[in-house]
Amino acid sequence: MPKNMTRADIATFYDRLSQVKPAPDTELNYNDPYTLLVAVALSAQATDIAVNKATHRLFPIADTPQKMLALGEEQLGEYIRTIGLWRNKAKNLIKLSQMLIEEYAGQVPEDRDELQKLPGVGRKTANVVCNVAFGQPTIAVDTHIFRVSNRTGLARGRDVLAVEQRLEKVTPPGYLHHAHHWLILHGRYICKAIGDPECWHCAVRDLCLYSPKTPEGGFPKKKKPAKKKTSRKMRTKPALKATK
Ligand code: SF4
Repeated sequence: MPKNMTRADIATFYDRLSQVKPAPDTELNYNDPYTLLVAVALSAQATDIAVNKATHRLFPIADTPQKMLALGEEQLGEYIRTIGLWRNKAKNLIKLSQMLIEEYAGQVPEDRDELQKLPGVGRKTANVVCNVAFGQPTIAVDTHIFRVSNRTGLARGRDVLAVEQRLEKVTPPGYLHHAHHWLILHGRYICKAIGDPECWHCAVRDLCLYSPKTPEGGFPKKKKPAKKKTSRKMRTKPALKATK
C-alpha cells in the first residue's frame, strides 16, 4: 500500500504553497457569477488561454443570460468555434441561459446541487463556481489536482470524487478555500503531467512521497541500443550465372 502524507506534513504542504502564492485566483477572465459560469463551462477540455481569447470577444456582446439568448446558438458558435466541443457547448449555454431566466430569475444559484441541474454543468464546474464566485470551500478536482493528490500522497483516490472527498477531509479548514487553486497551479507549473515533474525547484519536495524526484537538468537520457550491422554476406549480390 502506498503511504499517505501525515496530517502535520499536509499542514506544512499547504503553508508552503500559500507562501508561493498567497492569494491565488482562477486564470479565467470573468466579470460576475454568470460570466464565470460561462467561462468554466467553456473550459472543459480546453486551455484557459483559449477560453479567454474567445470570451474577450464574446462577453462585450453577451454577458447576461438574456443577451446570450438573444445572440442565439448559431451566432454564439461563431465566437467559440476555436474551443473543443464548441457545438455542444453552444447548445448547452443557450439552454442554461434559458433555464436561468425561467427558473432562477436570471441569477446564478449559489447551491452546488442547483448548479448541477443546469445543462452541461457537472460537479467540477459547480464546485469552481461555488468556490470562485461565492467563496465556498469547495474543491473542484481536475486532472492537475487528481495527479498532484495521488502523486504526493496528499489525498489518494481512484477517481475524482474519491480524491475530492479525501481532500475535504484532510485539508486543514484554514486552507480549504484556496486549496483548489494552490493545487491546480502547482500541478500546472511544477508537478507537471507532460515530461517529468520539476522536483528540483518544488516548494514541497521534502514532504512529497513521490519517488524518484527529478534532479536539476532532468534524468540522464537512456542510451539507445546500437543497431545491428547488416552482415556483408547479406549485402553481396548473388553471382550471375555464366551464359553459355
Ligand atoms: S517533489 Fe516532484 S513529484 Fe513531488 S510535488 Fe514536487 S514536483 Fe511533484
